Amino acid sequence: MFLKKIEVETIRRCGADKTKIRFRTRPSTDISELLPYLNATYPDSIYYAKKPSLELKKDDAVILLESEAIVLNELSNTTQGIKLIDWVKEEINRVYKNKDQIEPDYTSKENLSVPELYKNLPQLNCSECGEVTCLAFATKFVKGEYELEACSPLFTDDYQGIRERLEDYI
Ligand code: SF4
Repeated sequence: MFLKKIEVETIRRCGADKTKIRFRTRPSTDISELLPYLNATYPDSIYYAKKPSLELKKDDAVILLESEAIVLNELSNTTQGIKLIDWVKEEINRVYKNKDQIEPDYTSKENLSVPELYKNLPQLNCSECGEVTCLAFATKFVKGEYELEACSPLFTDDYQGIRERLEDYI
């Protein structure tokens, strides 16, 4: 078996929607080599090549797969999180087993669009950046009117994984 275990490290409330929770987990194996194969398997996924990571959606949850971390966002409850961990593990092992029959897709989204940036912001609409909404911030950011540092919530522990990924692509 390629991936033996996915260990839960933290369970926290989501910043944008306090009714939802997020799991930060650690896979027992570096999964980065499989991400282009998962990208090919899930057409709606988003692959980032520079710091290998893949984002995909399942049952209203947003799953971010990195080499040494898997983050499950927007979960309704812990039961859903545990089920999704099992699903992710099964999918990774299934894709690994079949990878000789899969043409890997290295298409990478390196240039963030406004919707992509917005999706990765904390979505608190807290105005700490000087804009009334996160969408306004994203729109002005892609025009070069802001640095990422203007969004102070992004620099808290809750958003560390997303922030590091954004920093790599901006
Ligand atoms: S600082 Fe701006 S971009 Fe960041 S969460 Fe608050 S409103 Fe959104």
